[in-house]
Amino acid sequence: MINFNVPPFTGREYDYIKEAVDNQKICGDGPFTKRCNEWIEKKTGCNKALLTTSCTHATELAALLADIKEGDEVIMPSYTFVSTADAFVLRGATPVFVDVRPDTMNIDENKIEDAVTDKTRAIVPVHYAGVGCEMDVITDIAKRHDLLVIEDAAQGIMSTYKGKALGAIGDFGCFSFHETKNFSMGEGGAILIKDEKYVEKAEIFREKGTDRSKFYRGQVDKYRWQDFGSSYLPSDMNAAYLWAQLELADEITKARMDRWEQYYKRLTPLAESGRIELPYVPEYCTHNAHMFYIKAKDLKERTDLISFLKSKDILAVFHYVPLHTAPAGLKYGRFDGTDEHTTTESDRLVRLPMYYRLTEKDVDYICDMVLEFYKK
Ligand SMILES: *Cc1c(COP(=O)(O)O)cnc(C)c1O
Repeated sequence: MINFNVPPFTGREYDYIKEAVDNQKICGDGPFTKRCNEWIEKKTGCNKALLTTSCTHATELAALLADIKEGDEVIMPSYTFVSTADAFVLRGATPVFVDVRPDTMNIDENKIEDAVTDKTRAIVPVHYAGVGCEMDVITDIAKRHDLLVIEDAAQGIMSTYKGKALGAIGDFGCFSFHETKNFSMGEGGAILIKDEKYVEKAEIFREKGTDRSKFYRGQVDKYRWQDFGSSYLPSDMNAAYLWAQLELADEITKARMDRWEQYYKRLTPLAESGRIELPYVPEYCTHNAHMFYIKAKDLKERTDLISFLKSKDILAVFHYVPLHTAPAGLKYGRFDGTDEHTTTESDRLVRLPMYYRLTEKDVDYICDMVLEFYKK
């Protein structure tokens, strides 16, 4: 059976976890967490990066820093993971869903401005499959309407848009290190902060509302309750697992890119004959091979393809059920404009196996089977 996902593992994880245990520092903000934070800062050029317990929590932290309140509106695509909306709904805000572009499955930047009202506070672009949204247009809209930009870059580590790292373009960026992502710590994430004025607040919210981060740096002689907050910092054992992969980030990304290119090349004839559609990456974007998807003709063909592949021991999967059609989406959110592409395109999309150490032979076999399905 070829799995859809296998968690990334380099072999060094055991040593680093052992080191964390031997350090007798397994709680948060230990040496491995620091290394990971600094690595992200250096790699992306963001002012400050802080590991969190998940991307969901990084987004919650961003919502707190953005001071999102009851009655506020936040613009995002409907084609995304629930966490993008959850973080703002928890603060009492309304997610306002905007249609996606059929080519990248990212929020349609040309439909954002229509959704802006006097209640809008932020735009949340989601970089689907690690391919950048149209950040120049989005940043411009945000500037003109005085909105914050919070990037859901859960899938976007190592990707760039016009030379800038995804996650470090908006006011805040959120990475995920869930086991399904390119680099993992089991459950985990990071918040990237552009403006220094938010850093101290972020440290306080992340540490139960205390200034313990300052205390650890020797800047205060005791730490005290400063504000409300929560516990968003991961154990250093988890950071140790992640560090093993950040050290080999280029190697992991290259291995994924090789498989991605292989899929693309082998399936191009099917796309040229009009049977399927392949992912599109704008020329000014570099991506990280987070995902390889194709689009079938319609829902029925996709369902048949998934079961055909399953009969050949290949696990291929569909993706998001658009949030505006889900029970909580109907309750908490609203769709602005018309759903031209979100539902129809999400119905057609199927993701093929993609993970670090997926072999060339496996991808050849998967492509053979996709081609065989379309021979019929
Ligand atoms: C994975 C993912 C998340 C959630 O990440 P967690 O680390 O599991 O909280 C949020 N948004 C998108 C787009 C994702 O792909």
